[in-house]
Amino acid sequence: MSIDTLPPLRQVIDTHGLAAKKSLGQNFLLDLNLTAKIARLSGKNEGHDVLEIGPGPGGLTRGLLSEGARRVLAIEKDERCLPALAEIAAAYPDRLQVLSGDALDINPLEHLNQPIRVAANLPYNVGTELLVRWLTPPEWPPFWDSLTLMFQREVAQRITAEPGSKAYGRLAILSQWRTDAQIVLNLPPEAFSPPPKVSSAVVHLTALPEPRFPADAKTLQHVTATAFNQRRKMLRSSLKGLSAQIEDHLIAADIKPTQRAEEIDLERFCALARSLKNNS
Ligand code: SAM
Repeated sequence: MSIDTLPPLRQVIDTHGLAAKKSLGQNFLLDLNLTAKIARLSGKNEGHDVLEIGPGPGGLTRGLLSEGARRVLAIEKDERCLPALAEIAAAYPDRLQVLSGDALDINPLEHLNQPIRVAANLPYNVGTELLVRWLTPPEWPPFWDSLTLMFQREVAQRITAEPGSKAYGRLAILSQWRTDAQIVLNLPPEAFSPPPKVSSAVVHLTALPEPRFPADAKTLQHVTATAFNQRRKMLRSSLKGLSAQIEDHLIAADIKPTQRAEEIDLERFCALARSLKNNS
């Protein structure tokens, strides 16, 4: 049984000529039971506006609306999808607004009312870029309560990774600094049309009221990007471009200058960011 009275997604794709474009990272979810499940993983949204990036033919959008989201604001770059999304908007009066354009260029805030959640199934490069932006505003808490995002499984593992593991890096630090981040669903390639080469996973990130440790977002982002860019090198060498006194800053943060980035936990990266910021 379908979750709504609109046509099945395969039919929507045929009617509107939405052959998937690789250049836009289009791998569509066609199973409306699955999209409703992902919508539920984002939380009970009766009292929330949901920002959806990349609705495509609207599978997740329909899941969010049928599961009761107060309002959905969807941003889609591919204009071919707009007629299909207009049909969904007509079926859910006053609950779906679609903005046409690149989510990296659009500020959605003037179209949203608090409280706000974010849900998306996005191409990999746009997804990580947006995630880093959502995690690093200068002030905290952010505009959103939670993010429910589909990633390649390998990226999802980088978000939730522990120190010492291969996947541990900038994404783990920025995510775990200000959120509780968990993989909540694993999906095989066959869940999508066309199937991508790799498996996917949904990550749910809940904003903490305050970051786990104080640090300046820009500095922490810069330090971790620099440290993990050369993750095999000792930190006194990989970070030497950040300060002439880098060894002093490392020691002040309880880090041995000979240690490597993947050995350093979140607390000590934050201490290092504070030490560098205080001297800049
Ligand atoms: N949400 C749909 C689903 O789950 O079936 C589509 C997912 S598909 C992986 C990614 C969607 O993001 C496509 O519809 C694509 O056109 C859109 N997209 C790609 N880059 C975008 C960008 N920069 N801004 C907004 N949408 C984008």
